[in-house]
Amino acid sequence: MSITETASPSASAPGVPLIGHWVDGALRPSASGRTAPVYNPATGAVQADVALADQAEIDAAIASAQAGFEVWSGYSIAKRQNVLFAFRELLNSRKGELAAIITAEHGKVVSDSMGEILRGQEVVELATGFPNLIKGAFSENVSTGIDVYSLKQPLGVVGIISPFNFPAMVPMWFFPIAIAAGNAVVLKPSEKDPSAALWLAQLWKEAGLPDGVFTVLQGDKLAVDGLLTSPVVQSISFVGSTPIAQYIYETASKHGKRVQALGGAKNHMLVLPDADLDLVADQAVNAGYGAAGERCMAISVVLAVEPVADELIGKISERIAKLKIGNGAGVDGVEPDMGPLITGAHRDKVASYVDIAEADGATIVVDGRGFTVDDHESGFFFGPTLIDGVPTTSRAYTEEIFGPVLSVVRVSTYDEGLDLINGGQFGNGTAIFTNDGGAARRFQNEVQVGMIGINVPIPVPVAYHSFGGWKQSLFGDAKAYGAHGFDFFTREKAVTSRWIDPATRNDAAHGGINLGF
Ligand code: NAD
Repeated sequence: MSITETASPSASAPGVPLIGHWVDGALRPSASGRTAPVYNPATGAVQADVALADQAEIDAAIASAQAGFEVWSGYSIAKRQNVLFAFRELLNSRKGELAAIITAEHGKVVSDSMGEILRGQEVVELATGFPNLIKGAFSENVSTGIDVYSLKQPLGVVGIISPFNFPAMVPMWFFPIAIAAGNAVVLKPSEKDPSAALWLAQLWKEAGLPDGVFTVLQGDKLAVDGLLTSPVVQSISFVGSTPIAQYIYETASKHGKRVQALGGAKNHMLVLPDADLDLVADQAVNAGYGAAGERCMAISVVLAVEPVADELIGKISERIAKLKIGNGAGVDGVEPDMGPLITGAHRDKVASYVDIAEADGATIVVDGRGFTVDDHESGFFFGPTLIDGVPTTSRAYTEEIFGPVLSVVRVSTYDEGLDLINGGQFGNGTAIFTNDGGAARRFQNEVQVGMIGINVPIPVPVAYHSFGGWKQSLFGDAKAYGAHGFDFFTREKAVTSRWIDPATRNDAAHGGINLGF
């Protein structure tokens, strides 16, 4: 399936395909005349342009979704469930196609693209059991002849705005549950890797989802603002950087919408002196450099409780030396460990943080600046970087870098490490490595972070729990998927009904006049 096969040629660059929208169950070339480049990060080449919607396209997408909602919300539970099962089967059997699309636009290695699809598929599988999760409650005979029951109904048209780093998984945190619950979705993917969403849209069509229930609106701030302010759109699920998450939360709330807005992160791994340092070094490398550090649950700071820092830095450095960096699609069937960053601009921003750390007095133990890959000299590569002794006042410590940069910060006690974690602006994920169960238990109670790993570096909850951080990592009170997901995508009604038994239909049963409450 080619997702650009019906696309029109790009206005900005002859010969470069233009990636359009998915509206009314089909690819729609854009007439907006506004585009953004989509790179192959491994080569640095522009491989396509993506359309950036104008107001007319935004309005058409939302109107189509509203029409789709009116059809889909009338489907029986059994019919909706059949579509979900079909979608799950198609996704499971064809996920290799999607993984190739993700790697081509994002750059991550293919096995990692498969990994994100599998984590998204978990939510699809959870959503297939939706009848059990959206059924209401019933209380019989709360007073004579009176029953009270609750109904969980869909919201209507719901908006999803996703980041570049998980172009399949993050939308799948939301849309399987939203669709299962009877809503229609408008997804605004990242303009940096827009094709995965179109592939998923095509798959929904093949699974039997009515046209208009899953819409892909390509675009930038204009499309986002169109969703945030539309009176038709009932809710917004956003994932991205903290400043934009805050903007989304404030703007969508002001327009009366239900909002969940997940933001950035700076995840710390606290290493106690009794920890298994080989395990710690393996996991720090996996969690720090996997997906080139472009994961919101990546570990970016290792807090080493002395005296382990020197030994740990040695072990991490040895492992870095063995990492293979290259084209995520593999060369001659051999996959590297780590691919490039998303764009040249992002690579330069990551490098600037290493410059800041150095200027602030840190030691750059392993330096990834200026890293190149043979035959891919124009690719957006950045080598794994290890920093020792970054001051905790440095912007390289306080801000999210979102690249393959791991900092080791030396602390003398557990409490000093805990205070650093709790003093930060983010609260997405964290991990403790120790062989002391009591210390781990204390950590899980004292740390102000939403997702905690105990000897697990990337504690992304399974689909039947919920995903979300604290503080500047989540605006709103609804996390993604799990029970929170079903609550978010349904609206509850409570019905109080009285049916008088025919055998006792008389004035006494009516209760007469009584103006009291
Ligand atoms: P981003 O905030 O730049 O973009 C996210 C989305 O917002 C995109 O669809 C983009 O088009 C849109 N957007 C960007 N600027 C906008 C603006 N000014 N107004 C309206 N919309 C705008 O994020 P990104 O670079 O795509 O993704 C990386 C960020 O996402 C990192 O900060 C990472 O930590 C975060 N992230 C968080 C989680 C989480 O679960 N908390 C998960 C994945 C990624």
